[in-house]
Order: sequence, then structure tokens, then C-alpha cells
Amino acid sequence: MSPSGAEVLRQIKSRIEEVDPSEVRDRLSGGAVVIDVREAEEWAAGHLPGAVHVPRSSLETRIEGAVGDRSVPIVLYCASGNRSAWATRSLSEDLGYEHVSSMTGGITLWKDRGYPVEVPKFMSAEQRDRYSRHILLPEVGLEGQQKLLDARVLLLGAGGLGSPTALYLAAAGVGTLGIVDDDVVDVSNLQRQVIHNTERVGVPKVESAAATIAALNPDVNVVQHRLRLGPDNIMDILPDYDIVVDGLDNFPTRYLLNDATVRLRIPVVSAAILGFDGQLSVFKPYEGPCYRCLFPVPPPAELAPSCGANGVIGVLPGTMGLLQATEVIKLILDIGNPLIGRLLMYDALAASVTEVKVRRDPACPICSRAPEEITDDELGVFPDYEAFCAGAH
Ligand SMILES: [Zn+2]
Repeated sequence: MSPSGAEVLRQIKSRIEEVDPSEVRDRLSGGAVVIDVREAEEWAAGHLPGAVHVPRSSLETRIEGAVGDRSVPIVLYCASGNRSAWATRSLSEDLGYEHVSSMTGGITLWKDRGYPVEVPKFMSAEQRDRYSRHILLPEVGLEGQQKLLDARVLLLGAGGLGSPTALYLAAAGVGTLGIVDDDVVDVSNLQRQVIHNTERVGVPKVESAAATIAALNPDVNVVQHRLRLGPDNIMDILPDYDIVVDGLDNFPTRYLLNDATVRLRIPVVSAAILGFDGQLSVFKPYEGPCYRCLFPVPPPAELAPSCGANGVIGVLPGTMGLLQATEVIKLILDIGNPLIGRLLMYDALAASVTEVKVRRDPACPICSRAPEEITDDELGVFPDYEAFCAGAH
């Protein structure tokens, strides 16, 4: 006679470690990985704060994405402690995780003890539909999509690079997109600036971009900054954002942006294009080099042309802009290997990509110092960058 379900469960529980909710609470505040193995609807109704959702039905395929290191201590929980007991056994006996335990009594007992429960923000049926291909990815999921919706990204320029970046970030559901641009749409822009169109020639670019984004995704709030970024306004605008996307084509503003973002510890996803060549890097203050570690002084003006006066193949800002958008999404979701400390160079004619490592300069005039040491006073409310760059050649 085969043992009853209750008997099997008893046997399993005798082979695994079970921990009391009070112990789980201590481990959570100590940074332990706590995994909710219930189904999506149960998770959506409320879960332990800081827990990760990996439903038991897809534990085998998703656990590696959630916890790559098998030696990390993990606590599993479900509604009452039974499903998590089964899951604990398979993680430790079949999948080789070394320190797995199951929370006694599940979230029911946790709540009975009066411990806090976090209810994920409500995502409408329309949103679940719209972002379903994201939600299906273990690296994104409902939680990642919520991070995208909560994210605030500032785009410098609604031009060649800014157009594709803004379109894809908006499509992905990045909830707040600030756009800085003081220009109007010109017919010569339309060969590459795909967020605008022929009917909008003469319209401010921020307005045109906002109209295209509104038609694409009503979840996105576009903040229009119709101005030129300068020393007088940069410290008012930047603190509202988590990430800056830099498609600037002039050096003075690049240096100004660098110094301000290092000071505010805001990462910058930066790209540059010319002709058939593109460059891309991520400058995350104090984790990798800053722009000045790479280029301590601006190049001579004749070597620093902008796309306004020079040619660029129309598809190139598309390629580089989407690489920027990809890095932005990785930073928001905290996944993959961002291009921090790496400079990627794309040669469209050769169809080749090369990468060089870039290091922090211990003598960097900006990031060798603590952010609070980069003061207005010391820099004289930022140096005169225009003169600084003009004097370089
Ligand atoms: Zn630096």
C-alpha cells in the first residue's frame, strides 16, 4: 500500500529544515533571499516585503535566474507551508542548493503574527496585456515591469539618438520620460529622427516627441523641458531623474553633464555618432570611470564635429539609440552586465563591434573626489565650459 499524501508530506518535512516566521523576519533584514513559490494571483494579493517571486510550477526553469549561487541561504514560503516544503526538497535534493529552508505556516502564519505584507501596485488587465512579453521573462516579470513603470529617465535631445531611445523606452513602459530639447523639427531631421514626421516640421521637438509617445503608450508621462541644458538649470532638472540618456553633440554640455551627474550620483548612458561610426558607454559614478577619466580635456574643435554640420548615415542613430535604450532597461531592472568601464565601438561599414576597457583615473579632476566635495563654490557654479572648450585648440 502506498503512503497517503499526508504521510509523504510528513516524510518530506522530516528531511528539510523548517524555520519560524520570526526567524525569517530576522533573516530578511539580514539580506537573506526569501522566495515566494505561490502562483501569480496569490503573489499579487500581497507578499513578504523584499521577497522574490518564483512560482513552484516553474521553479526548475526560473530558480537559476533568481539565485545563481547555490551556496546562498534561501527561505521558501507559500500559503501554509506545504508547497514550500515540496519545493525545498526539490531545490536541495534535485537542484543542488545547499542551504534551503521552508517557512512554517506560510504567509498565513506570518500575517497572524502581525508582520508586514507588501501589496504590489495594481496593474490593470490592459497593462498585463500590453507588457505580457516582458512579464513572461523571468528577468523582468510583474515586478520588473513595475520597476520600469516607476522609473524616471531623462533624455538629452529628441534628435537622432533620442528618437529611437524614447520610442522604445516608451513602448517598454518606462513611466516617466523627461525630454530636454530647445529645437524645432526640421525637414533635414527626418532622415533619422523617427519620433517626428513631415506634418510636424516647425513644431518644437519636445512637443512632437510627446505627441508620438502619447499615441504609442498612455502609461508614459512625458515631461517637456524646452530649453538648452546649461550651468544655470542643470541642477534644477537632474535631481528628478534616476538615469540620464546622453545623445549630446557638443562637448561643453557633455563636461557639464558629467560633473553634475557625478555630484548627484546619477548614471549616464552615453552615445556618440559620426558618419558610419558609433560609440557607447555607461558612466556610473564611483562604480566606473566618468567621462573626464576618459577625456580629461576636450578635443580641438576641428576633431569634435557635431552631426548638425556633418553627415551621418540615417540608420546609425537607430542602432546606437537602441543599444542605449537596452542599457537603460538593464540599469532599471538591475540585470545583465552594463557597459560600465567599457567603451563599445561600432563600425557600420565593416559591420564590426570592438570594445575597450576603460578605467577610472585616480587623478580625475572630478570623480577622484567625494560628491559633496564637488561644490558650486569650488567650481564657481561650474566653470565656463564654453570658454574652457573654445580655449582647447
Ligand atoms: Zn572621473
